[in-house]
Amino acid sequence: MRVGAVTTAEDLPSHSPERRLIEGRGTDEARWNASVQLDRMSYCNASAWAASYRRVWLVAPHPDDEVLALGGTLAQLTALNVEVRVVSVSDGEASHGDSPRWTHARLAETRAKELRRALDALGIDAEVIRLRLPDGRIGAHRQELLKRLVDEVGEQDLLLATCRFDGHPDHEACGEVALLVAELTGAAGFEYPVWMWHWATPEEPLIPWARARRVALSPELVKRKSDAIRQFASQIHTDGDRAAVLPPHVLPRFERPFEVVFT
Ligand SMILES: [Zn+2]
Repeated sequence: MRVGAVTTAEDLPSHSPERRLIEGRGTDEARWNASVQLDRMSYCNASAWAASYRRVWLVAPHPDDEVLALGGTLAQLTALNVEVRVVSVSDGEASHGDSPRWTHARLAETRAKELRRALDALGIDAEVIRLRLPDGRIGAHRQELLKRLVDEVGEQDLLLATCRFDGHPDHEACGEVALLVAELTGAAGFEYPVWMWHWATPEEPLIPWARARRVALSPELVKRKSDAIRQFASQIHTDGDRAAVLPPHVLPRFERPFEVVFT
């Protein structure tokens, strides 16, 4: 996207993730582990980012996306004294549908507390900025998201946001807006996958593998990240006879010894 081509979120193309369905068990972790796409992926490191960027913004559609996808990277950046700001675009209040046990109000407050505990487990003292846009309908509020970010982000900053091809409409909307903010402010903008690991396969032609880089995590950091993920109790536990939002077969995607961004 060229600077000047699109200046407001209203001009962004409407996305149509109908191909990118998040259903069933998704692609098995063993298939990703055996893939040449992961095997050949080159590395980048947090030290280089610390030297290049003044501040890092992590744009998360829901409280857990930041830790699942890039918790280890954020911990490394924090240890390098980089200022990290986490933008919780929604409170994730709609994760349990019409569950009588988990009202929207209860989920919003619970998930904010879970996020803080998860960040603490990773030693990330980031400021968390809650925008309170409606979970499930972020796409209808793209201009508001743009306005909230564009006044704050500077040209020496790095924006990390969910992929424009992540499959979840909220995730794709956040990615579209964040990359537009990067264009408008001169900041760098990278995308991170969460649900891409579910709907896509290693052979999926839509995935820009040439732009993919990974950040290595030490075994100790993988352990701390795993502990952090366990703080999202509302997401990893079943709700009566309803399945967990993050069931056990999903978690190994986020407990690898590396994390992936599209640069
Ligand atoms: Zn999410």
